[in-house]
Amino acid sequence: MHTNTKPASKPRAATYKKVLEKKAEEVRRSMSAQKAAQVVARLDCPSDEGDLSQQHHEEWIFLNRNSIDMKLLREISDALHRIEAGQYGVCMECEEQISIKRLDAVPWARYCVACQEAIAARIATGEMENEFQEADR
Ligand SMILES: [Zn+2]
Repeated sequence: MHTNTKPASKPRAATYKKVLEKKAEEVRRSMSAQKAAQVVARLDCPSDEGDLSQQHHEEWIFLNRNSIDMKLLREISDALHRIEAGQYGVCMECEEQISIKRLDAVPWARYCVACQEAIAARIATGEMENEFQEADR
């Protein structure tokens, strides 16, 4: 055990803030790129009746992908709010410090590994809304 590192070093919020802002920017850019690609695809394909179902399918994929991005953006913005509030890096379930390793991997993490796994298990059994599952990128 790392007894020599007590008290646990706080995650450096300023560093994560930059990472989160950059990630949000990336997601926004990728969303608008997808949107542009969609518009181009529309212009390319003459809208005759036969293409309609294919078009709907593509639209569904687009919306679905977009909603994952939206969710990620929201989680990033929540994390930024937690930085502002000075609560960043604290598990929202057990209020323990989330490990630096986890924050490096998932800077918008709301829960520590143990709580996230417990929540994932509850979602899997239908006990909990999927809303609480964090976006994984
Ligand atoms: Zn926890």
